[in-house]
Amino acid sequence: MEVARTIESVRELVKAARGEGKKVGLVPTMGALHIGHIWLIEAAAKKCDFVVVSIFVNPTQFGPGEDFEEYPRPFDEDAEICRKAGVDVIFAPGAEQMYPKENLTWVSVEKLTEGLCGRLRPWHFRGVTTVCTKLFNIVGADAAFFGQKDAQQAIVLKRMVADLNVPLEIAICPTVREQSGLAVSSRNQYLSEEQKKDAGFIYKSLQKCEKLVKEGVTKSGEIISEMRKILQEASTIDQIEYISIVDAETLEQIEEIGGKVLIALAVRIGRVRLIDNILLDVSIK
Ligand code: AMP
Repeated sequence: MEVARTIESVRELVKAARGEGKKVGLVPTMGALHIGHIWLIEAAAKKCDFVVVSIFVNPTQFGPGEDFEEYPRPFDEDAEICRKAGVDVIFAPGAEQMYPKENLTWVSVEKLTEGLCGRLRPWHFRGVTTVCTKLFNIVGADAAFFGQKDAQQAIVLKRMVADLNVPLEIAICPTVREQSGLAVSSRNQYLSEEQKKDAGFIYKSLQKCEKLVKEGVTKSGEIISEMRKILQEASTIDQIEYISIVDAETLEQIEEIGGKVLIALAVRIGRVRLIDNILLDVSIK
């Protein structure tokens, strides 16, 4: 496994792999790798012959007062995880590689970024779409692998690639969960035992939603208030930032459940912000 710190070196390595006729897969991450990332790497290895994992804590997707500085950066552990998972190259650039000058050019996706996580974090998706465009241009992969856990991100990136004719497939992999149902996240390590236990209520509320829909409840408002009740049972959940039921393609709010819907939520436990979601296809009975 190689570790490329510069754009030039990762390009060289990918070029050599391409010369051997290899299909190239990219797994973009911010490091602090966990089982969710490993699943993405495995999915990439199944579809591609050469896997690049990028590790870059992207400053442009963090807002003022967010955890950019303290975001965990355990590079040696990450490298070991990648090596064991059979990764070919880690691309771990410094900020001076990715943003050598004041960044004047941005990629933004409209509409899809306005609701859900974009409402209270309006800077976030512009940072994500810009850094992903840069990574796609740097690595030149055939496919990039993302997690369903960040559902809005997945939908936004798929649309960006389609709108801009980026010659790359976006593959979305299922959310990996702990036994409690809590979606695995690099930020879970900020939680105390009690907070972590309470965070299990996030998935419980999504399961309740699924159950209600299966029982034939179609009013979003009714479902959301039931989900809210479940989250309120957890004393360390300080704030429910949002619970939204939206069309899974347009991300527009829907009042009556039907077709493919995304149920997504964000909560705050202390200073930790956690998100989760499920997709339901209500046209399938
Ligand atoms: P991050 O390092 O948090 O930016 O995440 C990098 C990629 O891993 C993103 O595509 C995430 O959606 C994905 N990811 C993070 N956590 C999970 C999880 N629990 N299950 C599946 N994918 C995940």
